Amino acid sequence: METQYRVQVLIAGGGTCGAVAALAAHAAGADVLIIEQDATPTGSTAMSQGLICAAGTKAQHAAGIEDDADRFYADIMAKTRGLTDPRLARTIADQSAPALAWLIEHHGLPYELDIRFRAAYGHSVPRVHGWPGHGGADLINFLHSRLQAEGIDVLFQARLIDILAGPGNTAEGAVIERPDGTRETVLCDTLILATCGFAANAAMVGTHMPEAAGATHHGHEGNDGTGILLGARLGGALADMGAYQGYGMLTDPQGISVPPGVLVEGGILVDRHGNRFVDELEDIAGLALPIIARPGGIAWVVFDAGIEARCAHIPETQALLALNAARIAPTAHDLAARIGADPAALTATLRHAWNAAEAGRPDETGRRWGHDRPPAGELRALKVRGALYHTQGGLQVDAHARVLREDGTPLPNLFAGGGAARGVSGPSYWGYLPAMGLCAATTLGWLAGQTAAAQVKKESVLF
Ligand SMILES: Cc1cc2nc3c(=O)[nH]c(=O)nc-3n(C[C@H](O)[C@H](O)[C@H](O)COP(=O)(O)OP(=O)(O)OC[C@H]3O[C@@H](n4cnc5c(N)ncnc54)[C@H](O)[C@@H]3O)c2cc1C
Repeated sequence: METQYRVQVLIAGGGTCGAVAALAAHAAGADVLIIEQDATPTGSTAMSQGLICAAGTKAQHAAGIEDDADRFYADIMAKTRGLTDPRLARTIADQSAPALAWLIEHHGLPYELDIRFRAAYGHSVPRVHGWPGHGGADLINFLHSRLQAEGIDVLFQARLIDILAGPGNTAEGAVIERPDGTRETVLCDTLILATCGFAANAAMVGTHMPEAAGATHHGHEGNDGTGILLGARLGGALADMGAYQGYGMLTDPQGISVPPGVLVEGGILVDRHGNRFVDELEDIAGLALPIIARPGGIAWVVFDAGIEARCAHIPETQALLALNAARIAPTAHDLAARIGADPAALTATLRHAWNAAEAGRPDETGRRWGHDRPPAGELRALKVRGALYHTQGGLQVDAHARVLREDGTPLPNLFAGGGAARGVSGPSYWGYLPAMGLCAATTLGWLAGQTAAAQVKKESVLF
């Protein structure tokens, strides 16, 4: 094993967090290298819808939406029942808009406010941003095209397998392994862990979130927790290891996520008998468990042509339409026959929901319909399963994305962001706000890159 490189800022993981960290560190004048285990950049980012929440953006202002960091902070604290780290929540609330603005204004990221992603699931105003007609694969390709344009090196097929520890828990370098088993050492002044979470590590899932142990994993296979475990071994504290997004609408058999908008716009979930079992708008990340608990571990999303049309701009809707994935029928009675449900039960389910909506009272699940209405007319149904998408616990970081020890002091030169760091989703599955995964990846990546670069600049002046 030979030492081949030395860099100022070494970044493990070339997903959103790693790419944004690299762009930020490079812009601050540091010499940067990303090591990425895969041959091409994908990560969870490429599987995602690419949506990012941020508060107080220019796009919100232009759309007449009043939002700011204080309101975002209050939403995060309310959604997590006050159980997330308030300093980190403050950081995410304060820095999400500047981080996104930097990507838009300095790098040309074509993101806009997704005005059709209504305030729901804990966001009190519309603050989800995206690239119209595009998803997470486009986001990661865009970020890597920017890395290339800026001349930032990415070493693909280079897997972080160990951190070289120096005095005082310093990360002196990384051991990387190539697909043929050969190993190299990269020395560094600072190390940023951007290797995402551990949803693909069955043992860690079983330990930290046993209730999700049986769930299908629908995230990137590379999320095996290596970065988190190595950071902890160097002395980093772990927090909220039971936090995750358990999404309830992974279509069976297509394996495509039904966009949350289908529920927000009026869609409902029924079990295989045709009965409802959950308030569909209560909790986006909490839908997986009740579905897993239903007979056969499946549910059906029932919606109508109007709901479908209002979600037609979303790539996942288009993919499902292209596959003719939905079963369609003119009445609830006929739809029940098509999905193997009890016609009387499904008809009654829709009638009860309609009665509650028209009467302006919560329905049997507690859902409040407001101006929305349950499905009507020609109906559609998609079979879905609950799945584990990504974890939200990890290395405890401060407002500069520095990894903290158990006593709250920062490790000398270790940073973390995105799925490798503790997020702001509280301790379990019910604290996840829509589009928070990529918000934490961009915001903490941006902060980590800037701080790591500032640290090496300062040290190079001192020595
Ligand atoms: C289906 C799905 C839909 C989602 N939709 C959204 C959404 O719309 N909005 C949102 O905010 N969040 C969404 N998420 C969550 C979001 O994708 C993640 O929170 C986000 O991508 C995390 O970014 P990251 O950079 O930390 O990780 P990733 O994008 O996963 O990147 C981590 C990278 O590190 C690499 N890596 C891992 N281990 C090593 C190692 N040992 N050595 C070298 N490289 C390594 C991986 O190969 C990967 O490329 C979704 C997730 C899924 C699964």
